[in-house]
Amino acid sequence: MGENLRLFVAMDLPSRVKSEIGEIMVSLVERYPGVRWVKAENLHLTLKFLGHVESSKVGGLCSALEEVCSEARPFRLRVSGCGAFPHQGRGRVFWLGLGGEVNEAVELAGRIDRKLEGLDFAREERPFRPHVTLGRMKRPMPCQDLVEDWTVFLQKIGTMEFEVVEAVLFQSILRKEGPTYLPLKAFSFKGV
Ligand code: ATP
Ligand code: MG
Repeated sequence: MGENLRLFVAMDLPSRVKSEIGEIMVSLVERYPGVRWVKAENLHLTLKFLGHVESSKVGGLCSALEEVCSEARPFRLRVSGCGAFPHQGRGRVFWLGLGGEVNEAVELAGRIDRKLEGLDFAREERPFRPHVTLGRMKRPMPCQDLVEDWTVFLQKIGTMEFEVVEAVLFQSILRKEGPTYLPLKAFSFKGV
């Protein structure tokens, strides 16, 4: 029996974006005790969740990701709004939205999804909605106030634009104290 790793493919965020967002989260900890905030260093944009993968499959997985990502071109995203899944009235996940060349991210997620199907990874059933998870609710809760507060903070920060030049394969290590995401390999976008 081989070893298993819990893996996902994501785009990392620039550290200045993580720290700006982190400051907002810290300032809202007391006001929203029902939210488990994501640690600033862990903020990311998931492209494909893989779940448990046998370590013998990681080599093939990396070759496939290399192929898809090398054909992608770098693109620009910006932080744009926030919201809650499944809906604001009864949120479980609170997220940061993205604007700019989001279509590039959507297409890349689709290409990764289709490519990895050939390696026996199940296709994503739900449509891909690019977002950065900011927090998870301890129990579902109305999120109108949360969205309003964040909107004010985000307006204060102003436009946060950044370039995405690579996707990263992360290992997720789940512990009681919260997950640690270990970057295993980065795949640069080499297309034009
Ligand atoms: P925890 O599960 O302890 O709350 P987490 O969700 O941050 O921590 P993982 O469950 O390992 O850590 O997930 C890693 C990333 O993949 C997160 O961005 C998560 O939202 C996303 N993810 C997890 N499960 C799925 C899924 N079934 N479909 C799509 N994305 C997922
Ligand atoms: Mg999870």
